[in-house]
Amino acid sequence: MIGLEKNDEIEVTIEDLGSEGEGIVHVNGYTLFVKDALPGDTAKIKVIKAKKSYGYARLMEIVKPSEYRVEPVCTVARQCGGCQIQHLSYEQQLVYKQNKIFNCLVRLGKFSEQQISNIMEPIIGMEHPYHYRNKAQFPVGKDKAGNLVMGFYAGRTHTIIDTPDCCIQAEVNSQILGIIKKFLEKFRIEPYDETTHKGLIRHILTRVAYVTGEIMVCLVLNGTRLPHSQILVDMLQEVKGIASISININTDKTNVILGSRVELLWGKPFIVDYIGDIKYQISPLSFYQVNPLQTKRLYETALAYADLSGNEVVWDLYCGIGTISLFLAQRARQVYGVEIIPEAIEDARENARINGIENAEFFVGAAEEVLPFQYKESNGTVGADVIVVDPPRKGCDEALLKTILEMSPKRVVYVSCDPATLARDLRFLCDGGYELARVRGCDMFGHSGHVETCVLMCASTKRNQSDV
Ligand code: SAH
Repeated sequence: MIGLEKNDEIEVTIEDLGSEGEGIVHVNGYTLFVKDALPGDTAKIKVIKAKKSYGYARLMEIVKPSEYRVEPVCTVARQCGGCQIQHLSYEQQLVYKQNKIFNCLVRLGKFSEQQISNIMEPIIGMEHPYHYRNKAQFPVGKDKAGNLVMGFYAGRTHTIIDTPDCCIQAEVNSQILGIIKKFLEKFRIEPYDETTHKGLIRHILTRVAYVTGEIMVCLVLNGTRLPHSQILVDMLQEVKGIASISININTDKTNVILGSRVELLWGKPFIVDYIGDIKYQISPLSFYQVNPLQTKRLYETALAYADLSGNEVVWDLYCGIGTISLFLAQRARQVYGVEIIPEAIEDARENARINGIENAEFFVGAAEEVLPFQYKESNGTVGADVIVVDPPRKGCDEALLKTILEMSPKRVVYVSCDPATLARDLRFLCDGGYELARVRGCDMFGHSGHVETCVLMCASTKRNQSDV
């Protein structure tokens, strides 16, 4: 292997796409990661960081583009940190995500290629991969010339790219940002400055309910009061669907966007939306999936995999505001949801109530503590016919996986936002007696490198026989 050095400029043909959507090329055994480059691109690149066995390079010039390269819809796609692969055709993005799941299961999960090829279903892509997000959090600041800017952070930095027309956000956001900008300029209200901790307006949060069309606007303040707020409320009335206007108070020196206090300026404290037949109340602080159409399709997949007849006891672990739990409750005898954030459980209970769902019970706590506790306390009488897990990127705790094996439900449905930790956890469950039955990807975040996966595991027939 011959290492490369910083500032070396070379011409290469990119070979692969990495886990974050970056191009990968090997030069004499030395691996280079090249942001914005695609497999098949022949390009001039410049090394910007060189480690012992790998480095990072900048795409300087495309000599011959990959056949899958397209012109990004967004004019700031390359600078903005929001999207990573807008320059890859959407069709090919789906191929990339399908392969990503496949490769993780084979390489990290040690399942055979044959097995995965046999059971893997085609990824569920979006019909229209633009303007799909229902939630946006725009940082507000100033550019070098002192002009007000609102948009998104450039990749891995806190430089704000002015992006009033983001092509993955709801279209109405440009109207809302335009109004707020006019208001802030008129009254010379200063944006927040991270370095000096001065200025008032930190972020603008918007949420658009996909089914009902209700819109929420929340201004995150480094302060407790928005001057002339009534005028902003009046100005925002021209936005069709506006239902809730509030401020969020966040006076801490922190990267966390939202503070814990919300004050309503006008309208309702929440907006209402539906996924399928289930109604949800969404407040500025609630977690809610950002892609409503694909969420419905993902949950329908999870529900189909759970294969409920109406008699089952189901656990939904990492349940958030109970989105999957309530979906499952329509077809199960009893659903138990577990979630670590107390406020999310309050929302889950409220959502069960407004939908008249009485067979869903929720617990606050870590899934790896609540489930073993409930199971052991009851001397094994608290059972599970089906267990659904939807953990954050780090996957499931081993203590939880062990309890799942002990409880031995007929089916385990694993909804995952990271195929690498998914593969690790599936391997553990399969070594403990489960068999992979179905795998399906779902694209919730078009133009990013992320992919969601739904997996069905069944108690293996071999295990059942040896149990007898
Ligand atoms: N199933 C939900 C949320 C999935 S996101 C939905 O589809 O809307 C993952 C959730 O797991 C988050 O709500 C997070 O707060 C929660 N979480 C993280 N660690 C946890 C743990 N150890 N035990 C239980 N919940 C946890």
